[in-house]
Amino acid sequence: MRKRSFILQFGIFAIISLALALAVAILNIYATHLPSVPEVSFSSAEKVDMKEEIAEEEWCLILVNKEHGIPDDYEVELVELSNGQCVDRRIYPALQEMFDTARSEGIYPVVASGYRTAKKQQSLMDEKIAAYLVEGYSLQEAKEKAEIWVAAVGTSEHQLGISVDINADGVHSVGSEVYDWLDENSYRFGFIKRYPEDKIEITGIRNEPWHYRYVGKAAAAEIYRSGVCLEEYLEKY
Ligand SMILES: [Zn+2]
Repeated sequence: MRKRSFILQFGIFAIISLALALAVAILNIYATHLPSVPEVSFSSAEKVDMKEEIAEEEWCLILVNKEHGIPDDYEVELVELSNGQCVDRRIYPALQEMFDTARSEGIYPVVASGYRTAKKQQSLMDEKIAAYLVEGYSLQEAKEKAEIWVAAVGTSEHQLGISVDINADGVHSVGSEVYDWLDENSYRFGFIKRYPEDKIEITGIRNEPWHYRYVGKAAAAEIYRSGVCLEEYLEKY
């Protein structure tokens, strides 16, 4: 009797084990046939690479905005583009690659504004203030209005040399074509749209579809994928 009960128990145990093994096998087959996640996705090995890359590329993750001015000892080594604009030497290869790729896809961008000296930034501000004074605003009002459009000296990313205003060449492409292409593709080359429309409250800058900032490929891909702005990204990492 005891022996029969043991055989019965063993039999039930064997059947349950077999059923479990079968279930696991079915789940495994199902999992390997699931569609892969669309958009940008990273394997764990790529994630490790990404962290190392971010550490290496700290120079391009510097935060400059109304609260964070450019450090007094900031130095930049410039390279001149064919149209006379200058950028930080370190972003030049990525910028060139991005423009070459765009042109190969029938999109013709130009760098409308690259590196700016403090003097140049101040003259842009003075021009904007003057324009509002002509419109009849008081000096105080004119300054306030101008600051919505032009960053105060020491708070413009253009003084870093790693940001560029990109427009269409006006012959083969129009602005919206270039902006749309950059919006979708710039992260592949390490650039981000720095002032998106839905982040105005955080960046303090109106929507600027032409202003692209180099942050390195790893950070750009993560910013693009997660839909954050640079301020949010730096807070997180
Ligand atoms: Zn700009």
